Amino acid sequence: MLLTIETTHRPATDLGYLLAKHPDKCQTFPLAYGSAHVFYPEVAEDRCTAALLLDIDPVGLARGHRWGRNSDGTLARYVNDRPYAASSFLSVAIAQVFGSAMKGVSKDRQELADTPLPLDARLSAVPSHGGEYLLHGLFEPLGYQVEARRIALDTTFPEWGEGYAFELRLQAEVRLADLLTHLYVLIPVLDDQKHYWVGDDEVDKLLEKGGDWLRTHPMREQITLRYLKHRRSLYRDALERLMAGDDPESEVREVEKEQEEAVLECSMSLSDQRLGAVLAVLRDSGATHVLDLGCGEGKLVGALLKEQSIARVVGVDVSMRSLERASDRLKLDRMPEMRRKKVALFQGSLTYRDRRFSDCDAACAIEVIEHIDASRLGAFERVLFEFAKPPTVVITTPNIEYNVRFASLPMGRLRHRDHRFEWTRQEFRFWCAGVAERHGYGVRFLPIGPEDPEVGSPTQMAVFRK
Ligand code: SAH
Repeated sequence: MLLTIETTHRPATDLGYLLAKHPDKCQTFPLAYGSAHVFYPEVAEDRCTAALLLDIDPVGLARGHRWGRNSDGTLARYVNDRPYAASSFLSVAIAQVFGSAMKGVSKDRQELADTPLPLDARLSAVPSHGGEYLLHGLFEPLGYQVEARRIALDTTFPEWGEGYAFELRLQAEVRLADLLTHLYVLIPVLDDQKHYWVGDDEVDKLLEKGGDWLRTHPMREQITLRYLKHRRSLYRDALERLMAGDDPESEVREVEKEQEEAVLECSMSLSDQRLGAVLAVLRDSGATHVLDLGCGEGKLVGALLKEQSIARVVGVDVSMRSLERASDRLKLDRMPEMRRKKVALFQGSLTYRDRRFSDCDAACAIEVIEHIDASRLGAFERVLFEFAKPPTVVITTPNIEYNVRFASLPMGRLRHRDHRFEWTRQEFRFWCAGVAERHGYGVRFLPIGPEDPEVGSPTQMAVFRK
């Protein structure tokens, strides 16, 4: 999958400053399922082209189970268009590799970042089951001149006919940030199948990225619906907020914005990936009764409630405020009786023995242990592994080694003010191995988020099985 962005603005080489990628370098960035390469095929004063080449690993993708779960038969999981076609993987790569440019921020050329420039973007293969009409319908209202050429399925077998992918060229005088944002939102809309789990966060993401231009776009309904992967309730919520022009949850979101951790991690939608990974492990474990320890605002609880195989979900948190927000977010008071019966939220602490923690077959502590004083970890260990002892335990925590990859995080700072510690991979493994041995569990470790060859992945996960 190849995206090139060209400008004829002079000096065209300033494109390097805007993208924060040096035109003389060829750089590679690790992604969850492959890597992204950035290089410049053409560098001159009057014309400069930057290229983003996505190299998706289809086998890694199939193993990750996040894509192709529902595809018909095993072969389609390995043989598919994901490595070639522009999809949500490209959006994630854009956000990750050109994050500051997409936000419209430039350290060295802020004025230029704020200025519309002559830009020419080409995408090698954009799936559009809606045909050429959809490509024109999506990009032309945003001011682009659109050229789309349908790609033959296979030129060696012309009798197979045309495929559903298009070579796409978009030209306009726009800010670079606008171009990147339009691609970020509209590519998954065209592809219509997201590789990651779509949760409530996606509404926020869509409103944040699309707020201004989406409100007046003639195809806003289709965009919203497809972007939110046809989840009707999210769609209605997003559209209402979009049209109202204000955000009923703005206060809550302000608070969330203050949380450096969320801001740091959002560019790579790490929380989505974390949720997806935890759900995959829980599905795999066959658990039906899940305890979410330190449930916060109830994201995992909400996701579990939608799983058919789950009969009961219990969320526990020490913070009353978090529980109230969870209850609001889940709309507990308006939940249909059948579903309401499946869920319980209560206040409790993970470091005190509690009978209500028993009789579940899986317990999760997602981004929680780092909030517990190290001196209380022993108590937490006993409460969970000695007394509650569910057959499956899932624990995730930040990998401190990865912090050097967050450009905006000052050296030596933890990701969140309330974190009592953050561990290296070795420290986490050491603690988990000890816990497993003391209580008769087996434990395996899985990375969450893009894996860096040197410092590992941003989140680390341990899965204990009895
Ligand atoms: N699991 C959630 C929230 C993580 S933030 C998610 O992934 O989104 C950590 C949460 O742990 C906070 O809601 C905090 O109130 C809770 N917490 C911290 N110490 C706790 C303790 N000792 N007992 C119960 N909850 C605790």
